[in-house]
Amino acid sequence: MFINGQWCDASTSTTFEVTDPATGEVIGTMPDGGAPDAERAIAAAAAAGPSWAATTARERADVLYRAWQLMAERAEDLAQLMTREQGKPLRASRAEVAYAGDFLRFYAEEATRVAGEWLGSSRADQRFLILRQPVGVVAMVTPWNYPISMLTRKMGPALAAGCTLVLKPAEATPLCAKAVFEVFVDAGVPDGVINMVTAADPAPIGEVFTTHPDVRKITFTGSTAVGRRLAGAAAANLKRVSVELGGHAPFIVFPDADPVRAAKGAAALKFLNAGQACISPNRLYVHAGSADAFTETMADRVAKVRAGNGFTDGVGVGPLVNEAAVAKVAAQVDDAVAKGAQALVGGRRLDEGEFAAGHFYAPTLLAGVTPEMVIHSEETFGPVAPVITYDDVDQVLALANATNYGLAAYVYTNDISTALRTVEGLHFGIIGVNDVNPTSASVPFGGMKDSGIGREGAHEGIAEYLETKSVGIAL
Ligand code: NAD
Repeated sequence: MFINGQWCDASTSTTFEVTDPATGEVIGTMPDGGAPDAERAIAAAAAAGPSWAATTARERADVLYRAWQLMAERAEDLAQLMTREQGKPLRASRAEVAYAGDFLRFYAEEATRVAGEWLGSSRADQRFLILRQPVGVVAMVTPWNYPISMLTRKMGPALAAGCTLVLKPAEATPLCAKAVFEVFVDAGVPDGVINMVTAADPAPIGEVFTTHPDVRKITFTGSTAVGRRLAGAAAANLKRVSVELGGHAPFIVFPDADPVRAAKGAAALKFLNAGQACISPNRLYVHAGSADAFTETMADRVAKVRAGNGFTDGVGVGPLVNEAAVAKVAAQVDDAVAKGAQALVGGRRLDEGEFAAGHFYAPTLLAGVTPEMVIHSEETFGPVAPVITYDDVDQVLALANATNYGLAAYVYTNDISTALRTVEGLHFGIIGVNDVNPTSASVPFGGMKDSGIGREGAHEGIAEYLETKSVGIAL
């Protein structure tokens, strides 16, 4: 763990093991912290708060620029560590490290653009000065699926705004978090400004984060169930909250779209991170008129996606995070097939030979999926592409919106009017139009409904870490 500028053990001196999800091999141990460690870390962050808030925006920007440069210098080591600890193919790990660095550079730039306002009043002898100041100590909880970029997407803006912080990374990927902290430390972040507590059981730390009076804000990325619990507990103590949660993205192919192009896009997007992405397309709505061309192209593409160890050349899908994740995917596919769906490709666990010690599921294409099947309403988080054929163009928007989630959606059409009407009608925070990568550090990322509260990235991302102060001045 990292508290007040020192690497340290848990107060109990206990540790937990970190394993490679492709091989089951133990690749490291980390301190198994608890509530007392979280309290120590918060105390360090609170003590460092005033001096960090008093640095100039330029000084904070310089630290973030150095962190961005160091991350670029260490990119290959970080990518190798990510593939070892999280399992995604090495090429995807390299892309994630670059994306993670983007947040450091963007918020280095953004730090110097935080501005106040000078406002008039209905009183002739009064003026108002509006200040934006750091919220204070931020508690952060991050997931395992993007174990480096989810950290920089929170730490970049928090540090730029002048906040100090305590991070609790996911128990499956603490080694990546440690490597990110090394980058920040070497970039010159002062003692106490960033702190990290690791634990096999996150609940006691979550309890401290949501109740401690010195924590002013909680930011969380992970499942809707845990986010709801943490947001509820934090709200009871009137702490600021932003939560990035699950998704169940629709992917709509309109009759006028090129089904082959849409299928290539869907196949490229669906299997990124083995489908373990909150913006992964989970419901592919394809018009009956182009369903055959779409599924043929998809089947051809999916059959070529190779599962395996992320270090092996040509592997497109790595392991899932654990056995529970494989079981969830298998249950969804089995339910769909039992209710009449056809597994055109895959549709089974991979548990023999090179897969025996890891957590693998075959890249899968399901056709004939209907709303009665569990996979149509439950987030998948695995390498399964379910195709739902529709007839009525006027109904597809309602079908896409018929979910409690509201994170990402994808639309394929060549008609500008269809595109704009659909974009306006979709209840989702991130939309790709003929585009499978609608994300960037300089663009807001976040969802509606059960997908979360708040936005990360962009100008909005730093606003989440700033308080507004109004000052009336009598002349
Ligand atoms: P998770 O909610 O189980 O875990 C996320 C984090 O929460 C981990 O660090 C975990 O240790 C911690 N946690 C769990 N219980 C806690 C508690 N009681 N108190 C404090 N912390 C606790 O989710 P996961 O399995 O790690 O991630 C998968 C989920 O995250 C998916 O649903 C996915 O859609 C979502 N996700 C969303 C985004 C986004 O930006 N919206 C990004 C990545 C993942």
